[in-house]
Amino acid sequence: MNSLRNLPPIDEIMADPQLVSLSESYSRALVVEECRRAVDSIRKEIKDRSDILSREELREIAVTRTLKRVEEMIAGTLYPVVNGTGVVLHTNLGRSLLGERAIKMLNAAARSYVNLEIDMITGERGSRYYHVEELLCRLTGAEAALVVNNNAAAVMLALNTIANGGEGIVSRGQLVEIGGSFRVPEVMKASGTRLVEVGTTNKTYIRDYEAAITEETRVLLSVHTSNYRIVGFTHEPTLQELVELGKCHQLPVMVDLGSGILLDLAPYGLTGELTMQDCVRAGADIVTASGDKLLGGPQAGIIVGKRQYVEAMKKNQLTRALRVDKLIISALEGTLIEYLAGKPECNLPAIRMLIRNPEDLRADAEELADIIGKELAASDIPCSVEVVPVADRVGGGAFPIEELPGFGVAIHVGEELVDTLAARLRQRRPGFLLRVREGALISSLRTMLPGDGQLLAAALAEELAAAQGR
Ligand SMILES: *Cc1c(COP(=O)(O)O)cnc(C)c1O
Repeated sequence: MNSLRNLPPIDEIMADPQLVSLSESYSRALVVEECRRAVDSIRKEIKDRSDILSREELREIAVTRTLKRVEEMIAGTLYPVVNGTGVVLHTNLGRSLLGERAIKMLNAAARSYVNLEIDMITGERGSRYYHVEELLCRLTGAEAALVVNNNAAAVMLALNTIANGGEGIVSRGQLVEIGGSFRVPEVMKASGTRLVEVGTTNKTYIRDYEAAITEETRVLLSVHTSNYRIVGFTHEPTLQELVELGKCHQLPVMVDLGSGILLDLAPYGLTGELTMQDCVRAGADIVTASGDKLLGGPQAGIIVGKRQYVEAMKKNQLTRALRVDKLIISALEGTLIEYLAGKPECNLPAIRMLIRNPEDLRADAEELADIIGKELAASDIPCSVEVVPVADRVGGGAFPIEELPGFGVAIHVGEELVDTLAARLRQRRPGFLLRVREGALISSLRTMLPGDGQLLAAALAEELAAAQGR
C-alpha cells in the first residue's frame, strides 16, 4: 500500500494558480516539463514509503517543487560565490575579479556598438588589437603585442607560427602541467612543434640547450614553473643566458610566463618572480601570459615581443580561431589603463587582495567574528567563533609556495556537523566556499568582499538552525 494512486495528473497540478501565473511569465512548455520531472521524482520517492499522502498533499509538493525548479532554471547555473578560501586567483572560482574601470568599459561595450575594428579617423577598417596593443607595448617595453583567448592559446599560436614542423628546446624541469588541461608537451605537439627535452628535473645548464641545437631547432622555450618549485640542488640558466645563446644561433627565445605580472610586488614582500617587462628587457623575443592571473584582468592570452614574430602571428590562420571579442578587449583595456594611470595596487581587486597587510585582515576578522557571534547568539545556537591566523595563497600560477599570512574567522560546529554545513553553504545562492579544519569552518578575510561577512553570518544562522531542526 502506498500513495502512488493519489498522485494527481499533470493537468490537475498545472491548474494551480501559481503555476498558471508562472506559465504566463515564462514558457508554458518549460513549466510543464519541470512539473513532469517533479511528479517523476515524487513517484520514485513515495513508492517505498509506508505512510499515505493525500492527493492534496501530493499536489502541494509537486507545485512547490515545480516553482522552485523553474525559478532555479531561470536564475541560471552560474552565480556568485563568496570566496572564503584565501586563494586570491582561484581558477575554479574564475580567477581575477575585475576593477571598476574594466567593469564600466565592459558594460558599455556590451550595451552598444563599439569601434572595435574601425579607424574612426579615416572610416576605414581597423584592427581590434589596436585598442590594447599600444598599452601593452608601453607597459612592457615590447615592440608589438597581440591578444588571444587565453595563455594556452597564446603558447599554441606562438609555437605554431615560429616552430611548426621544427623543434623546440625545453628544460626537463619546466615540463609543466597547469590545471590538468595545459601540459607543455601536449601543447607543443598540438602546435606542430617537436619537443626536445634537455637537462634533468633539477639541473639544466645552458650547455644542455646548446648541445641540443640542430638544423631543426626553431625556438628556445622557457616555461615558468607556475604551480611548483624545484628546490634544493637545482640549476636553470638565466633568461639572459638563454637570450645570448639564441642570438648566437639566430634562434628566438620564448618565455611562457603564465602569471603576467606587470607590477613588481617585491615592495610587498613577494619576490623572485619576473615581470613581463623584465622578460622583455632581458631580450626575450616572445613573452606570453594570462590576462586573468596576476595581471588582474579578464581571461585572455597576452603575447608581447619582437615585431617580426608578432606580425607573423597576426597573419596565422589560427589567430582567427583564437581571437577575443569586444567584451574581452574592453575589460582588458580597462585593466591595462589602471597600470598606465599608476594605481593598480589600489584599483585592481586581485592585487589589492594580495598585498593586504595582516593587521588590517585581523581587524576585519575581529569585526566579522563579532557579527557572526551576535547573529548566532540571537538564534540560540551553541557554537564558538574565533579569529584565527591562516595561510592564504596567491593561486593562479605565481608564487606557488609562498604563504600569505592572513586572518580568518573559525566557526566551530563539531566534526559531525561540519561537512554537512559546508555542503549546505556551498549550495546556497550566493554560494559559500570555506575551508574546513578540525570541526570548524574557516573563512579567510583576504578574499572576502565588502558585504560578504553579513551574508555569511545570515547564511550560517539559517543553515545551523536548519541542521539543528533535523
Ligand atoms: C596559467 C598558465 C598557463 C595557462 O594559461 P591559461 O590562461 O589558463 O590558458 C600556461 N602556462 C603557464 C606557465 C601558466 O602559468
